[in-house]
Amino acid sequence: MTDTVGITALIPPELVYACRHRPLDVNNVVPTSSINPRSKLCAWTAVWRDEIMEGRMDIDSLVVVAGGDCHNALVDGQKVALSGVPTHYFFYPFDRDPDYMASQLKGLARFLGGIKDKEMFRTISGLKEKGLALDQLRVDDRARASDVFSALISFGDLQGDPAAFEEVLDTIPHTDVEYSSRVALIGVPPIYPDFHEVAESFGLHVVYDELPYEFVRLGGNDMQALAGSYRNYSFSGPITGRIEMIRQELDRRRVDGVIHYTQFACHHTLEDEIFRAHLDYPVLTVQGDLPRPSSEQLKLRLEAFSEMLEVMP
Ligand code: SF4
Repeated sequence: MTDTVGITALIPPELVYACRHRPLDVNNVVPTSSINPRSKLCAWTAVWRDEIMEGRMDIDSLVVVAGGDCHNALVDGQKVALSGVPTHYFFYPFDRDPDYMASQLKGLARFLGGIKDKEMFRTISGLKEKGLALDQLRVDDRARASDVFSALISFGDLQGDPAAFEEVLDTIPHTDVEYSSRVALIGVPPIYPDFHEVAESFGLHVVYDELPYEFVRLGGNDMQALAGSYRNYSFSGPITGRIEMIRQELDRRRVDGVIHYTQFACHHTLEDEIFRAHLDYPVLTVQGDLPRPSSEQLKLRLEAFSEMLEVMP
């Protein structure tokens, strides 16, 4: 029987499948969760923590990304570990050291019982090519951003079944998209499940989702290639690398403005002023807390941002 491995942030799903386990990105249940966390800073980690500890999420073990893009996950992950769930801590190298990355991947493979199915590397590589093609489709205005976002965000765990996930990818509708402005969504993904639909309703076509793009951009067909690729996970390294990557994508995708989503009590919120200083685009900063449908206040702000972009030269 295949075990389900909860993952708190991006780790190579290729490796989890190659070890014959099924990854479950614990964040993916958060936007539609009804849990009111007992104690919290960031609602993302607090909600998945309580989902697991209250037995509402069925996992056999947990991999906590303890060094990389999130510090709250380290504490909430340890609470889960103390409740008896076998837990492994995974660290990205801030200095991009390929040897350190390779040692972390080897440690992860050991925790998962070793590689048993190398073919999964190629299978998932093929799916990521489909993901990149979908991403390009919305850049070319031939797919709705909300459909593409829901596909790309699922690349963290491929919905637990790569074959079924490929069918999901194949059914994303191709359609001509009408909009008034092209925007990029940077930062952690919004905790609001309807964010992209709401943005679309105000004529904002989201042509870049920063974090989900990392999910499809990184990969490899063996351990060495994985180490060389994942050490460049932009969220886990110096912010100068992220700025460079974002600038390149904003230019390539011809965006008119940037929405920076920030999460209450997340350290990434402090990056807002850095992005504002280094990105030469109009920036709207929004913040969420608990998982809820988008608030009326957020809708008003998106509408005003859209109107402002429309009249800009
Ligand atoms: S929003 Fe920030 S604090 Fe919360 S899980 Fe994501 S990175 Fe961690």
